[in-house]
Amino acid sequence: MGILIGTHPKFAEHDSGTHHPENPARLDAVLSAVPESGVADAVKFFVPEPATMADLYRVHETNYIDALRRFCLMGGGRLDPDTAVSVASWDAALLAAGSGVDAIRRLRGGEASSAFLAVRPPGHHAVVDRAMGFCLINNVAVAASSLVIEGERVLIFDFDAHHGNGTQEIFYKNPAVLYVSVHQYPLYPGTGRAEEVGSGDGHGSTINIPVPAGTTSATYRAAIDEIIWPAVEKFAPTWVIASAGFDSHRSDPLAELGLSAPDFGELTSWLFSLVEPGRRLAFLEGGYDLDALRSSAASTLAAMAGERLVNEEPSRGEAHLPVLRAIKESRARSLEL
Ligand SMILES: [Zn+2]
Repeated sequence: MGILIGTHPKFAEHDSGTHHPENPARLDAVLSAVPESGVADAVKFFVPEPATMADLYRVHETNYIDALRRFCLMGGGRLDPDTAVSVASWDAALLAAGSGVDAIRRLRGGEASSAFLAVRPPGHHAVVDRAMGFCLINNVAVAASSLVIEGERVLIFDFDAHHGNGTQEIFYKNPAVLYVSVHQYPLYPGTGRAEEVGSGDGHGSTINIPVPAGTTSATYRAAIDEIIWPAVEKFAPTWVIASAGFDSHRSDPLAELGLSAPDFGELTSWLFSLVEPGRRLAFLEGGYDLDALRSSAASTLAAMAGERLVNEEPSRGEAHLPVLRAIKESRARSLEL
């Protein structure tokens, strides 16, 4: 079965400012991955519907959404030191947030086995009441919350180099969403310590794996085996969503992790194997080196079609076992509190 790719010309109209790393050329790079992936025959493009206000209000405060809309439509400007918007950003944000909900509807209708949402602006830093770090609306959270109200159990795996503080915050107390992030630490936005494990009913349903600069795939594999898999097995997800940030590629200019393009394919294969076909989504988050974006997205698409694409030298290096042991111990202590 095929792969849906949701994208829209309006994503190019979101103007984040001159010389901004999060710019429209990123999407061109991601879409040029389709021919490189070797699985172009499996790809079906779709034009997403915008999110409804009800979709957005499930994860963001009404006041924030209304203020964002007014701010964009009055001409835009700067929302935080890194995040600027234009008039067109409102429509782009609605389409990015709606793309997941639309993809879920299509997957449920049997159109494909998985969907990749090639969107901008990205979403995982957007918190309940504010835009942050290039993100306006938390696209992954909007999709996940639409599944949760249907009684689904959603695993969000965030492999962006930065911690998805917004996604974590939105679901921190929610036992129906298991949020897992492997990210460089310390790095923007400064959250994502191993001790952050969720609270209330969601105690235990947040997993943070903060890793040092230079971390390669061996550490990701060990983290999955030692820490992530036991929790995922217990959680028993019915849907998976990848917060697919490709800035953990070794060439990225905004972070210093050490993954290569084939590593993203390997992570995606593992993640998507956890649930039945038709219950698998990936959203573009970060990734700021255009060549790395193309090759990483190509490897991800190949994995979504069940293929393995080795289009770059895989990352090498030993797993940081002492780092993982410390994370596991911190997490265990926090879980006992
Ligand atoms: Zn990032």
